[in-house]
Amino acid sequence: MNEYDSNRIYDLISVIDFKKTDIKKEADCFVLNTCHIREKATEKVYDEIGRVKKYFRNLKKPLLIVSGCVAQAESEEMLKREPYIDIVIGPQSYHKISDLILNYQRTKKKFNETEFDVVRKFDELQKISNSQNKISSYLTIQEGCDKFCHFCVVPYTRGPEYSRPFDQIITEAYTLVKNGAKEITLLGQNVNAYNFFDKNNNYKLSSLIYELNNIKNLKRIRFTTSHPKDMTNDLINCFKDCKKLMPFLHLPVQSGSDKILKLMNRKHDLNYYLSIIKKLEKINKDIKFSSDFIVGYPGETESDFEDTITLIKKIGFVNSYSFIFSPRPGTPATNKKLNDLTESKKRLQKLQSILESFQLEKNKKYRGKYCEVLVENKLDMQEKYFGRTKCMSPVIFESDSCKPGELVNVKIASINQNNLFGIHQSNKEKAA
Ligand code: SF4
Repeated sequence: MNEYDSNRIYDLISVIDFKKTDIKKEADCFVLNTCHIREKATEKVYDEIGRVKKYFRNLKKPLLIVSGCVAQAESEEMLKREPYIDIVIGPQSYHKISDLILNYQRTKKKFNETEFDVVRKFDELQKISNSQNKISSYLTIQEGCDKFCHFCVVPYTRGPEYSRPFDQIITEAYTLVKNGAKEITLLGQNVNAYNFFDKNNNYKLSSLIYELNNIKNLKRIRFTTSHPKDMTNDLINCFKDCKKLMPFLHLPVQSGSDKILKLMNRKHDLNYYLSIIKKLEKINKDIKFSSDFIVGYPGETESDFEDTITLIKKIGFVNSYSFIFSPRPGTPATNKKLNDLTESKKRLQKLQSILESFQLEKNKKYRGKYCEVLVENKLDMQEKYFGRTKCMSPVIFESDSCKPGELVNVKIASINQNNLFGIHQSNKEKAA
């Protein structure tokens, strides 16, 4: 979502004639768009500011703006702690960035803007066309979360769930396709909680997917990140009805133990999660899954951890993210007694090696086979291209005839842990 937000921040400040530059010393302004999910996020931001300060020590000081979830969480405190910062903007207020810059240029007054004004944000963004022109583009449809998992900072930094108006999203999707997008990933912290009412209709994520499925030049649709509780039947049916919806779902479970799921306040148990997986597999036999896992959550015993391992083996997730629990200030889990770190590290290592072995097994199955790849770009200085399979696996392949944006058949010759390597089918045929 930060990638989407960064692009939109750029669209907004383009209006007041700011342009992106790769030449650091020419920059008049730095925008650090921050994420609060990872550990030590705040300290990393101050480290980055330290690097900017050092670089500009003998040059004209650039305007320094901190936006995103760290800005939201730290707010006024940032201006007090680091005088080099000029403006702090929360993720729901960044539509005001141009006004804040102009105001600063006029008055030199520092400003902290961290209101939750998400309705106005999207109303303002709608007035400025999305200039993103990537083959695979992001489109935010929903923000915030009402689930309040005890480890998670999102409900506090992004605020309550908000769904953008249906028509606004469809208009933006057409703009992205006009700009060259062939794949759109619908985004939200709780994307499948999307729920928009107007006078006569109630639109869900499934409504958006059916509508996008009809866009002529769009080839692939994805969505992330989903909560198991919001995997409703209408959404599950999209994996049968909508050919452009890719058979790959990131569905975080976090733990395989009901006791830990309860302590995390995840609002579902293991059986419920498995029932969703089963429905999806029944409706689309090709579907594959990835997940997030937190290891060493306060109270996790060896037996709880083994429940997670059993779940991983049962589902065979093809790709996942896993971390040791680390407390986020302001969340209910912050003050819980931490598990022994050495033990947690051991558990994480075991879990990751099992996940990696599934990923490798999945990649091995591609060897010698053809797979459909959406070409994203040509690699610099090489006659090779980069694209992704339906299940997101990265593919590097040779071709003398493909173009970014095309769907091509690639024969996979070799693999490693993360990538597939091959040759575009038409080249192979020519060689034969
Ligand atoms: S559902 Fe996701 S975003 Fe919402 S609180 Fe839980 S982990 Fe955070």
